[in-house]
Amino acid sequence: MRRVLSLLVVSALVVAATWWLAGLPGEVSLHVAGYGISSKTPVALIAAVLGLLLVYAALRLLGGLLHLPRNWRHWRAGHNRAAGDIATTRTLVALAAGDGPAARKAALRALRLLGATPQTLLHAAEAARLAGRDAEAADWFRKLAAHQDGAFLGLRGLFRQAVDRQAWDEATVLLSQAETRQPGKAWLRDTRLMLAARQGDWRTAITLAEPGPKHAALSVAASAGTTSAEDALRLAETAWNDAKALAPAALAYAGGLRSAGQERKAMDVIRESWALAPHPDLVAFIVAPGADAPARLKLFTSFILPRADHPEAQLALARLSLEAGAAGDALYHLEAAEHGGLADRRLGLLRADIARANHQPDAERTALRAAALAAAPPGWACTACGAGQDVWHATCPACHAVGQITWGAPPR
Ligand SMILES: [Zn+2]
Repeated sequence: MRRVLSLLVVSALVVAATWWLAGLPGEVSLHVAGYGISSKTPVALIAAVLGLLLVYAALRLLGGLLHLPRNWRHWRAGHNRAAGDIATTRTLVALAAGDGPAARKAALRALRLLGATPQTLLHAAEAARLAGRDAEAADWFRKLAAHQDGAFLGLRGLFRQAVDRQAWDEATVLLSQAETRQPGKAWLRDTRLMLAARQGDWRTAITLAEPGPKHAALSVAASAGTTSAEDALRLAETAWNDAKALAPAALAYAGGLRSAGQERKAMDVIRESWALAPHPDLVAFIVAPGADAPARLKLFTSFILPRADHPEAQLALARLSLEAGAAGDALYHLEAAEHGGLADRRLGLLRADIARANHQPDAERTALRAAALAAAPPGWACTACGAGQDVWHATCPACHAVGQITWGAPPR
């Protein structure tokens, strides 16, 4: 109803205005340079309004044409930014998925669309690296290193490449340059430690490691690497104090003490470590002074009292009992180890040896079959990359992580 009323009012006003316009008296004349035109007032007013509208439209068109290049540039920049953002996202996804060629393609597109910013240069370098194009990656890292804001990232990338090539002198120079850009950063400390460890410079590495597993591992390596017995003993003692449950640290320290004639102290060290973490490698050290098998069994039996019920202790007792000719005792301790939770290949093999000693060929065959199907025995493995190792190392041979090789279930 309100809309109908409004329409009626507007219509009435338009009709009234038209009526008033049509009824205007007089004429309008225009004389320019001898030419003249005259018209009735209503017609002249309508012509004037139409003329103004035409002039306005022409001015708008002209303005649009004049701003066309600038507007085109703005549109193009916006379009490139949007397309560049999409290419950047695709680069990150491909990098995360480990797809080098796809990451490189997307990174180069982002670089073309967004220009050489620290971000696009870094992505191009990382993508080239992932795609196995080390020379191309180095070029991008160098460009990044020359960039005011991205210099640290460029130097860090070049450093990693130098480490991969084992170009230690170049890596050391690059690390110093990176340090001037970002002094005192945690990454630099860890990297200097890693670099020293990779070069076998254990003493420098020790100064950079916090007390703990890393410090212990580096101290064991430094102890093994020094020619001075006194230094070796001091470093091994440091390692053992850092990580008493680490068998290689205990063996290094106790070995040094034994060589120095301090047998009682050496056994005290092993006893303390054994109480913390019974480890098969400690057994050989404990029974070493025993001249024959019964003496070795006696030594071990008297030694392991604090953790005699530990399955590793029972397994060692079983082996030593068998060697001492006590097959019945060996079987008893073997079953105790089994009840204690051990179920790996060592048990089956020892059971086969016991059966052989008892002249039981059928039982020996059964035990060997069980051993073939049983799990691998515990061993050394890197907690950083999971790679299994035959022997303990201060740094992982696979991923070069420091102090990460630990004893436990074998990696599958
Ligand atoms: Zn590793």
